[in-house]
Amino acid sequence: MMEVGFPSRLHGAVKRSMNITFACPECDHTSRIPLALETAVTCPECDWKQTTSAEAPREDALDECLVCGCKELFIRKNFSQRIGVFVVVVAATASAIAWAYYMWYTAYGILFAAALLDLYLYFTVGNLLQCYRCSTEYRGLPHLDDHAAFSLETHEKYRQQAIRLAESQAVHSKG
Ligand SMILES: [Zn+2]
Ligand SMILES: [Zn+2]
Repeated sequence: MMEVGFPSRLHGAVKRSMNITFACPECDHTSRIPLALETAVTCPECDWKQTTSAEAPREDALDECLVCGCKELFIRKNFSQRIGVFVVVVAATASAIAWAYYMWYTAYGILFAAALLDLYLYFTVGNLLQCYRCSTEYRGLPHLDDHAAFSLETHEKYRQQAIRLAESQAVHSKG
């Protein structure tokens, strides 16, 4: 029987450049900058500079968010939700038009093709690392697979924390 395989990731063969997408804690500006070894993360828009001494690791997995110092990070597919939604919306519209013209096979075919495309994208895109607390995204880092996948429980913990923080700040600014 023929082995049907999705393209496997080239391990170490391709040196991917590391980069980071983060919202600046100081000016709120979201930037995507290259992540260099032994260099602190800085905001290109203002004077903000990384406050922790953590560095992008050369060999090991990143164990701490460079922007906020949070120790909990998760991996997810480097797959834009927008592209996924776009594919579904376009396919649903095209399928509905075909359906309206009694083109049953075309209507089903479009939906099937969209499902295949989504599946293909899912298996070919790599992973990225994201911080639970500040949502900073790390791409092209070594040992991404050492990290755990998204946990709703952990996410909820940080969401509650953020709400409490916002509430306490609101009280402080009032008083
Ligand atoms: Zn800034
Ligand atoms: Zn963070």
